[in-house]
Amino acid sequence: MARIRFENITKKFGKTVALKDVSFDVDDGEFFVLLGPSGAGKTTTLKLLAGLYKPTEGNIFINDKNVSEDPPYNRNVAMTFESYALYPHLTVFENIASPLKAPGRNIPSKEVKERVERVARMLKIDQLLDRKPAEASGGQKQRIALARTMVREPDIYLLDEPLSHLDAKIRYELRQEFHRLEALKGVTTVYVTHDYVEALSLGDRILMLDHGEVQQIGKPREIYEDPANIRVAKQVGQPDINIVECVTRVEGEKIVLMPKNEPTINIEISDEAQAAFRNNTYPEVLLGIRPQFIKVGEIPGSQIFDGRVDVYQVLGSEGVLNVEIGDLNLIALTSPEDRYTHGEEIKVYFLKDRFYFFSPENGERIRFS
Ligand code: ATP
Repeated sequence: MARIRFENITKKFGKTVALKDVSFDVDDGEFFVLLGPSGAGKTTTLKLLAGLYKPTEGNIFINDKNVSEDPPYNRNVAMTFESYALYPHLTVFENIASPLKAPGRNIPSKEVKERVERVARMLKIDQLLDRKPAEASGGQKQRIALARTMVREPDIYLLDEPLSHLDAKIRYELRQEFHRLEALKGVTTVYVTHDYVEALSLGDRILMLDHGEVQQIGKPREIYEDPANIRVAKQVGQPDINIVECVTRVEGEKIVLMPKNEPTINIEISDEAQAAFRNNTYPEVLLGIRPQFIKVGEIPGSQIFDGRVDVYQVLGSEGVLNVEIGDLNLIALTSPEDRYTHGEEIKVYFLKDRFYFFSPENGERIRFS
């Protein structure tokens, strides 16, 4: 049983503000992901939860008890760090067992053995127990570090980029294993990553942090489909969302968007967006178009643009197309069966119902309802 409440936390290191008025709740048993770019404040948040740092302002509650001033050993939390920090001179067994042998813990050696073997079996590293960490691969080291965290059977797991430093294939496999790990299921887990795929795959909910501030908290689908601002939209999605700086313009009966660097084009927008822009509250907007909503070809009822292929790459299951429309250079996702050559003339259309609009002043999403 562990619920977490972060209440208006600010953390400063000298003049650096690592976290600014951050608040969130984590439910009992929830898998809660902190997502954000480097320097966002993710590790600082974990260290505050672990008791390694104290907040400059605000309070931290675990199960309604204010633990802001409590030292780490008074909180039943276990943290794995990005660097695995394994003891090179100890065997894998001894590394995993080390938290159970900390001073003050008088756990019988039979129980230590049982717990280490159980968690090693679960993480499929039981064949390594007699070896030294240097004999393990990168993926295995990461699992040893994870096993050392899990063997404590804490109330809360704090996992800091546990799958970084691994190649994409092992990362994928371990991500699958995370889904299967019964031991993680009932235990409140706060998981740090800068990888949106990991966040979308694993999180019950995601907190997107940037510049020490909460950008959005929501279920994976909400974060992906309904980003609160341009920072979230850019962090979640690969290739990056296309952002086009535009001026809103009256064109006969219609309101259209004119890209600032390509004024010969008028981009048509939905009726709903036109209604919002008609009153001129937004003379300029940032138009966001995800690459999968830019299509090659022509369909009736769509606005068709003349495009020119710049670069085309087939990356396994998808094709990534850089297409120029005048001076606009956009990225589109295509079927991997498609073939394009540099300089080829193509027709392009957008799914205008999937456009996002952001304020150029503060990057906040402009919503219509
Ligand atoms: P990364 O993904 O690179 O690990 P992060 O999101 O975990 O980044 P933090 O490590 O929490 O970010 O750092 C947030 C900010 O606080 C950064 O500007 C960092 O330089 C600063 N910071 C973190 N720890 C300290 C410290 N002990 N002393 C001084 N500044 C710190």
